[in-house]
Amino acid sequence: MNNIFTIPNDKLDMHECPLVVIKCIDFRFRQTDQEFVERCLGFDNFDLFAWPGAAKDVLKNNGFKTSFIEYVVAVSRGLHKVKKLLLLWHWDCGAYGGSKAFSSAEEEKAAYLKDISIVKDMLSKELPGDLEIIMAYSKIGPQGLEYCVVE
Ligand SMILES: [Zn+2]
Repeated sequence: MNNIFTIPNDKLDMHECPLVVIKCIDFRFRQTDQEFVERCLGFDNFDLFAWPGAAKDVLKNNGFKTSFIEYVVAVSRGLHKVKKLLLLWHWDCGAYGGSKAFSSAEEEKAAYLKDISIVKDMLSKELPGDLEIIMAYSKIGPQGLEYCVVE
């Protein structure tokens, strides 16, 4: 017996979107990350790459970086005509050993900021020059997750 589920989808005739995102796979952040991109940044449609630690593995300068760049260029850029790439890190990321790996929130924030900006520099050397790279991360705040776009 087959179980068939029908779910309406009004995007099937679309071919382009403005943004490609790479974020961590961590289930705890999936919904709020999506809300941040849609409500705060204003992108209803975007390509999504999810990987442990977001794009942290670009720092290894290995096949992950090569493949990621190839797919961004061929699919997101080539087919979907994206104009921007969002690098989205998150608080308490297991790829860093979680918040407990840091002695303070400031130290944790500094580690993320350092890595995001190195990754941005590495990617910007190989991605098309007119593909804008946006950097952001989430942080635990008193009311919930606080998302910060890095200037
Ligand atoms: Zn993570």
